Amino acid sequence: MRFMVHGGVRRSWMAVLLTALLLAGCAARHPGDPIKPGFNVYSKEQDIELGRQAAAEVRKQVAVVQNPWLQNYISAIGKKLAAQPEAEGYPYSFTLINEPSINAFALPGGPIFVNSGLIAAADNEAQVAGVLAHEIAHVALRHGTNQASKASLIQLPAVLAGMAIGQDSVADQIAQIGLGLGVNSVIMKYSRDAENQADALGTRILAEAGYNPIEMANFFEKLQEQGGSRPPQFLSSHPDPGNRVTKVQAEIQALPASVTRKFDTSVGNFAEAKRLVAQLPKPPSKEQTLARSQAPTEGPSGAMRTLRARTFQVARPAGWQAFGDQSSSTVTVAPRQGLVETSTGASLGYGVVMSYYQPRTASNLGEATGELVNQLAGLDRSIQSRGGQRRVTVSGNPGLVTTLYGQSPYGGAERLMLLTVPRPEGLFYMVFVAPDRRFEQLSAPFEQMVDSLEFRR
Ligand SMILES: [Zn+2]
Repeated sequence: MRFMVHGGVRRSWMAVLLTALLLAGCAARHPGDPIKPGFNVYSKEQDIELGRQAAAEVRKQVAVVQNPWLQNYISAIGKKLAAQPEAEGYPYSFTLINEPSINAFALPGGPIFVNSGLIAAADNEAQVAGVLAHEIAHVALRHGTNQASKASLIQLPAVLAGMAIGQDSVADQIAQIGLGLGVNSVIMKYSRDAENQADALGTRILAEAGYNPIEMANFFEKLQEQGGSRPPQFLSSHPDPGNRVTKVQAEIQALPASVTRKFDTSVGNFAEAKRLVAQLPKPPSKEQTLARSQAPTEGPSGAMRTLRARTFQVARPAGWQAFGDQSSSTVTVAPRQGLVETSTGASLGYGVVMSYYQPRTASNLGEATGELVNQLAGLDRSIQSRGGQRRVTVSGNPGLVTTLYGQSPYGGAERLMLLTVPRPEGLFYMVFVAPDRRFEQLSAPFEQMVDSLEFRR
């Protein structure tokens, strides 16, 4: 009974805390008033660690512009802004992405990504700088982890326990509370309140770096005019807090005269940047970049485990999963990233399939294998047998290894190693699939599996 009363008290205490914290950011603020980061359960160091991990994920999932001049251009603007005291000295980085939509996003602790479409849409360098200053403000005000902290309030005790034990990385913890690290979830939508703050602090950073902050207001106005049925992406990831342009103008009015007197009106290299952006190659589709990001880069290392099927047994990498009914004679063994989700369904990009084929007319191993290859090519039209053949002995049986090529679901060419062994049950086959480009690094498990294969009676 006492316990229940105690529990009730704790719950209401939590409710009060929650309400207080959520209201704290909503207090009215006047233009020019200082802005400080809100409630946060993470440390600044954790912001930086989290952002570094997320940035590595993002780089795999986007098409980074391969032009060093353009990357230097965007970095130079960013560094000028990041040097201002309001940027709070985070380890900022600025990366240009080959993506025509108008957008930019910041990760906790400093990594900032800018779409090439932003340069294409801007009228001058100060407008590009305006968006970068807005992103820097999100980092300095720690809006990403502030939002995660609010979301985690209900699970706060669990998150803190995880931190104490130290088993999970911050990224894992964020994932646990439902804010994943994929490129889609990283480009999270901030609250209107956070947008207001980023506009205000961004205005200040922009002015201090010598850019006329009125261009920030001009650019937002331009984006809003382009609205209609498909507003620029920037406005969906950075929603208009309401009267955006008017508020930025009021913030400019409140700037100290010492700042507003020293605007740099030189054109810079903006025209050259626009010219180079217009010449960028067509960016790959979302599906292509996503599939490529999932492609394995190295084979499994370490332990093997015995897989027992009805008629054979074989060693498989311990970290791989066996799919299908293991009591039958058709088994697929693959790592988790080996199954690729495509528009036409799941496809095996890296792994092994083992089964039996019943030849129709073939009278020897070579002919039976030829029939099977035709069968496989019928299922996957990209498959062709350009590769060679070699004879092997498997568990005392004569076998044939045939090399085939096809189209990898990760993009690019795929290599298939087909082992065939005649058995009383039919033609046993084991086909190993991997992207051709990395086949040598990835084929070790195939060799190990072939060596370990034993037929059961
Ligand atoms: Zn924003």
